[in-house]
Amino acid sequence: MAIVIFFLGLIFGSFANVIILRLNTGESLIFKDSRCFFCSQKLQWFELIPVASFLVLRGRCRSCKSRISWQYPAVEFASGFLFLLIYVSTTTPINIWSLGLATAFFWLLLVISVYDIRHKIIPNSLVYLVVAIAFLSLIVGQQLAQNLISGIALFSFFAFLWWVSKGQWMGFGDAKLALAIGIFLGWPLSLVGVLVSFWVGALFGLVLIFLRRLHLKTHVPFGPFLSIGALTAFLWGERIIEWYLSLL
Ligand SMILES: [Zn+2]
Repeated sequence: MAIVIFFLGLIFGSFANVIILRLNTGESLIFKDSRCFFCSQKLQWFELIPVASFLVLRGRCRSCKSRISWQYPAVEFASGFLFLLIYVSTTTPINIWSLGLATAFFWLLLVISVYDIRHKIIPNSLVYLVVAIAFLSLIVGQQLAQNLISGIALFSFFAFLWWVSKGQWMGFGDAKLALAIGIFLGWPLSLVGVLVSFWVGALFGLVLIFLRRLHLKTHVPFGPFLSIGALTAFLWGERIIEWYLSLL
């Protein structure tokens, strides 16, 4: 079963690449052939198999031998791994609704993160979908008030950062994303998620400074860090809290 879930994740990873590439470009997400960027050669079915095609073709177009971006297999693999991780961490007996919602939630966070890195913006259509899934999980999870308050608290905090920095530290898209994460994780996992995202973000900033890649004008999108924080809190939040309390 785990292998089936992993392959399903790979296929959704392929679809994630299509969304990341085409959303808001006016191109159809479904009714359009995949083509090589350089020679416009239409890709055959065997060139569209997640990860495997990239490896077999050694990262090059079959007709013109141009390099294919490693983003494609990376996103496909990340998606497969994500599906597997959430499936494995689900406690038995498996509730198909919570498993499905959690998988959809974090798959969308993956799409948003890569989209944010590439285009420096979080698309409204995707973030509203994440908020909708978070609301659906309220119905399944039955912790209505607590999770709603967590969502509003997280949203207010990030909206405040966006407002005082005039959009320099955070985008307003990050605040909407934080709303979804707060509702989905509830309390106290939301707090763990936000703290982890700031720690990972700070660590990443230090690495950039060390590599002398960080300039004053560098805009580092925060969406990926929020997503990493949320996933960490979802998978290991309880254990992180236990560990932290044992230190006190
Ligand atoms: Zn080509």
